[in-house]
Amino acid sequence: MKDLPSFELLVDSFAKLPGVGRKSAERMASAVLDMPQEDAEQFSKSLIDAKNRIHPCPNCGLFTEKDTCFYCADESRDHSLCIVVARPKDADAFEKIGVLNCVYHVLGGLLNPAKGIGPEDLAIDHLVERIQNEGIKEIVLAMNPTIEGETTSLFLAHALAAVAPEVKITRLGYGLPMGASLDYADALTLQKALEGRKSL
Ligand SMILES: [Zn+2]
Repeated sequence: MKDLPSFELLVDSFAKLPGVGRKSAERMASAVLDMPQEDAEQFSKSLIDAKNRIHPCPNCGLFTEKDTCFYCADESRDHSLCIVVARPKDADAFEKIGVLNCVYHVLGGLLNPAKGIGPEDLAIDHLVERIQNEGIKEIVLAMNPTIEGETTSLFLAHALAAVAPEVKITRLGYGLPMGASLDYADALTLQKALEGRKSL
């Protein structure tokens, strides 16, 4: 289609989504043109509403639309067991298998000296505060099995052992292939990795 700058902008927007190439983005933009006006307006409204209303939980960093997230607010959960993840979507992987009725802590990334991401860029101080304030007894380090994930796990294990020696620090057991991503791991592999978690 020629001379349709609005269409091109829409294609550019869809192409920013993960896993969407130019061809797919063009198909999506065409589908928007075919939508009833009402559906297109609802589509754009839901995008803006989600962006405006959803924010990180000030306590754990998972997404919420309220003051505190679903997990932190749930008193029936075991608040003494905390799975530490790099990104909010990694917590979803554990929630899907539903083995541990625990709470979470999102670091906001992984250590990566090449990209200039150091400990001060991650929510580590806040994790230490939570250990002290919330009676956390076990921390499960659940980073993706990549070089950055390993580096971050080792750093955290040392840092936490120094400031909170009473807390048990574990990491996921073997079974996750190196370079894998937690959100793509199948439920059984993830469950075995969790059950086989090892003390550091
Ligand atoms: Zn929370």
